[in-house]
Order: sequence, then C-alpha cells, then structure tokens
Amino acid sequence: MVNRKLIKELLSESSCTHNKDKDKKGGCDKPKPGATSGGCAFEGAQIALFPYADAAHLVHAPATCQGASWETRATLTSYEGEDNTPLGYYTDVTTNDVIFGGHEKLEKSIEYVAEHKKPKAIFVYETCVTAMIGDDMDNIASRMEEKYQIPIVVVHAPGFVGGKNLGSRLGGEAVLNHLIGTREPEEVHPYGINLIGDYNVTGDMWQYTPILEKIGIKIVSTLAGDGRIEKIQMAHTAKLNVIVCAKSLITLTRKMEEQYQIPHVSVSFYGKRDTTNAIRSIVNAFGDEALSAKAEEVIKEEEEKLEQRLIPYRKILEGKKAILNT
Ligand code: SF4
Repeated sequence: MVNRKLIKELLSESSCTHNKDKDKKGGCDKPKPGATSGGCAFEGAQIALFPYADAAHLVHAPATCQGASWETRATLTSYEGEDNTPLGYYTDVTTNDVIFGGHEKLEKSIEYVAEHKKPKAIFVYETCVTAMIGDDMDNIASRMEEKYQIPIVVVHAPGFVGGKNLGSRLGGEAVLNHLIGTREPEEVHPYGINLIGDYNVTGDMWQYTPILEKIGIKIVSTLAGDGRIEKIQMAHTAKLNVIVCAKSLITLTRKMEEQYQIPHVSVSFYGKRDTTNAIRSIVNAFGDEALSAKAEEVIKEEEEKLEQRLIPYRKILEGKKAILNT
C-alpha cells in the first residue's frame, strides 16, 4: 500500500541540496497535472532497479504502464545468466480485475516468473490502477517469498504519487527495507564501497571501476548498474557509500548512515578532472596514507595513458570549439 508518510518524508529530504524548505515542511515541488509526462514515479522506480539483471521485474498493471517504460536505457550488465533487464513482465490487469481484484493474477504471475525464470529476486511494481483497486500486494509477496525462498520486493511507487525522481527514491526505499542487511559476506573488506546512482548506461561504470580496484578499493555492491541481488544484500558491510551523480538516492545514503554508520561522498566520473577528484574524495574518506599514496600513483599512471590516447584527437581538434554531449 502507498505509504503517505514515507512519500512526504522523501519529498522533504533534509540532505538534498535542492530542498528549498529548511523547516522540512515544503521540500520538493508537488506534482502538477501533466508533470509525470517526463516519467512517472513507477517509471523512476523501475529505472533505478532495472539494472539488476539477475532479478525479474514484474509490473502489476495493464500493459500500457509497461509499454511506457520498458527498457528505456542501455544499462549494460556482465551477468552471465539470463539478462532480465530487457525482458518485460506484467500481470495484464483488465477491467474485470479492477472490479473483482487483481490478486489472483498477481499470484499466478509471480509463480510463473519464479518457476520459469528462476531469478535471484523479483521486484513487483505497484502502479496507478493496482494501487487504486487496493490489491494486498505485500501479503501476496510475503507468501510467495516463503514458497520460493527468494526475495520478492514490492515497490510502492504508483505514478500518481509524483514524478520519476520520487519513484527512484521509492525504489531505493524498497531495496533498503527488503534487501540491504539480509546477507553476510565471508569477510569484510577494509576499503569496501557501495556505488549508488550509477546505472552503467552504455557501460560507463566499467571505465572507472577497474581503476578503483587497482588502487585497492573493493566494490561491495552497486545500486544498480551491473548490480547483483546478493551483493546489494551485503551493502551494509561497506565502509563508504559513493553517490555517483544521481541525487535521487540521497535519502537511501542518509538512512544507511543512520542505520549502519556508513558515511557518504558525492562524486562525478565525467571527464579527467572529475575522475581524479572523485578518486581523491573516495580515498580521503578512508583517511589511510598508504591508500592515498597508491591512489596518486594510479592517477598519475592513468592520466599519462589518457594523454597519449588524446594525441590524435588534439591534432584533429586543435583550434576548434567542440560541444560534448554526455
Ligand atoms: S503508473 Fe500510472 S502514471 Fe505511470 S504509466 Fe502507469 S498509469 Fe501511467
């Protein structure tokens, strides 16, 4: 069921720099009619969670909701099993279900997906129609979770509650409340980080994660680029949350700081200067001299390599103005 208190809280996020209201009463702009044309809350939640390719994404809705959002971005994965991101599952709610309830259809759809696709988890998205008919999705999900022994996470982000950004926050809440902290790793890495808000669109994450690993930093989990369910379940054991560009998940990092004492830094990996600054921000947060020295060594090495690769472009572009479309 839609949690009004939570939505109010998410619209007044105290850590968000865009929050105009210092008394936490107003916060983000309220949705206006037509405002969801840039993407509704359901779409935002799905976009935030879609990159978990080892999870199935089941939309409890008429086909139209799924059609509005289905795989809108090229979020790449290295998952070797079946990539569930480009696969759209929905329950096909009809007028009959609006009158008599769509719970049976939901139950059968979860059974179908669990038995035929064997995903590591199922995200079940509530949408406008199913929120209004009031199907008890949480109850069905918890019964199915017991039956199939995989996490079945209901994401309460129907489009009418607001826009895409709010939906991403609600997706983050669902992950925080149902997945994070539900699995323990064999060992806790001293320089473990979570990458929050990078969706690995066209594989951009793979440009900088090898550099971080070379320095000695371990990526414990990602939300959600190239993500895995088992890894996000262990996200509470990371020592630092790194928010990459997207501010939509700032509430999640604030709550992880409160619940698990994980501090966060906000960085960007766009371009040489940003990447160097991002690496320094991450290592500085650990306050370890040896790690910082290693980082400087790797930065020098990578910047030199980049300069070499830029030589042909400099020749072509010298004396010209260029526009970068990122
Ligand atoms: S959840 Fe609501 S606003 Fe979003 S696509 Fe479905 S009907 Fe439209």
